[in-house]
Amino acid sequence: MTEYTDEARVRADDRAHVFHSWSAQALIDPMPIAGASGSYFWDYAGNRYLDFSSQLVNVNIGYQHPKLVAAIQEQAAKLCTVAPSFANDARSEAARLIAELAPGELNHVFFTNGGAEANENAVRMARLHTGRHKVLAAYRSYHGATAGAIALTGDPRRWPSEPGSPGIVRYWGPYPYRSAFHATDEAEECERALAHLRDIITFEGPKTVAAIVLETVVGTNGILVPPDGYLAGVREICDEYGIVMIADEVMAGFGRCGEWFAVDRWGVTPDLITFAKGVNSGYVPLGGVIISRAIAETFAHSPFPGGLTYSGHPLACASAVASINIFKEEGIVEHARAIGEDVIGPGLRALADRHPSVGEVRGLGVFWAVELVRDRSTRAPLVPYNAAGSDAKPMNEVMAACKAQGLWPFTHFNRVHVVPPCTISAEEVKEGLAALDQALEVADRYY
Ligand code: PLP
Repeated sequence: MTEYTDEARVRADDRAHVFHSWSAQALIDPMPIAGASGSYFWDYAGNRYLDFSSQLVNVNIGYQHPKLVAAIQEQAAKLCTVAPSFANDARSEAARLIAELAPGELNHVFFTNGGAEANENAVRMARLHTGRHKVLAAYRSYHGATAGAIALTGDPRRWPSEPGSPGIVRYWGPYPYRSAFHATDEAEECERALAHLRDIITFEGPKTVAAIVLETVVGTNGILVPPDGYLAGVREICDEYGIVMIADEVMAGFGRCGEWFAVDRWGVTPDLITFAKGVNSGYVPLGGVIISRAIAETFAHSPFPGGLTYSGHPLACASAVASINIFKEEGIVEHARAIGEDVIGPGLRALADRHPSVGEVRGLGVFWAVELVRDRSTRAPLVPYNAAGSDAKPMNEVMAACKAQGLWPFTHFNRVHVVPPCTISAEEVKEGLAALDQALEVADRYY
């Protein structure tokens, strides 16, 4: 057999046999990860990276939390698998804990294996509940990569999968920094975004619209925190027209925004909340839909036509139970809120003062974006907006400068997202921001 170091073997087998998601196979060289703990992961050479990305914004509890690892081991020793048609203690407890945390009368949980599948099923529930077919989804959105979820997705990642599925109607959500409504402040943006939504519903025919789906705080499309009043306004529109409000909290939920659910910040109760990622930090794949009493009742005497072999998998559910309990014991949601307000937000604003290439800093909790521009007055992005044909070089250089200093942020289009685990310490944030400070000098060169 060929002599390999561990790393060489991982790389060779990966390139020979692993077909990676969202990638041109010949153009990538994925870094082999040897291990991880807390806020850090490391490669085989022992280079350690402070993870400002939480992988794909999912490791909310940090890596290898010992109690979470132990809970999975205990469940594995007890019962590894059971079909969704049986009742199971891990699943029952996970559903109860999630229902207790959810706002209002959202009291049933449909478990899935991830976020896309949760959105697919939320739309299915809304269509069957209302007897209508159209679904309004935002241009600046990502809802997943399965057939229905990529059709909901508004950003360019949907293009190769078009024409997608019928009945999806697009709208613009609020984004004061690049307002689609030429608004000059947040209040105006909110008012115009709601008026725009009403116009779309009127012209589509209110009786044809089953659901409005939105990311409570838009994630990969820029960490767009809605202006105060927007979510309440959407709720009002939904109530007026009998439309189901679906809040996609796959990324924003479970501590990311310094709340259990991002909607809690605005006191708004949607009809369906979809979740995944932070519910158990992706230690085992899990997602789901939290369902209002009224929608659950629709399926009291007629079957809900959905579910997969592994829905509500006991290993996944046991890890959700353990994760929620750890969040409570360690005050992780409160920590995420405080570290955002006291350390990350002020730290990023200080970087904006020093670096002309920073057009805007926005966010909350451990969910922040640094939007980079070539010119503050025109707000021209550091890379062109469209993914297709964009010159990603400046952003690649910013990312490389971060990595060279042991920092791993999440970059998308012209933005650096600062989305560390909810458990990150103030010292770790400061370490990461110092590295980002250096890396932004690269961005300033393109200014
Ligand atoms: N919804 C949102 C808001 C997301 O950010 C994502 C993934 O990033 C998804 C849905 C899809 O989740 P998954 O990749 O688990 O299918």
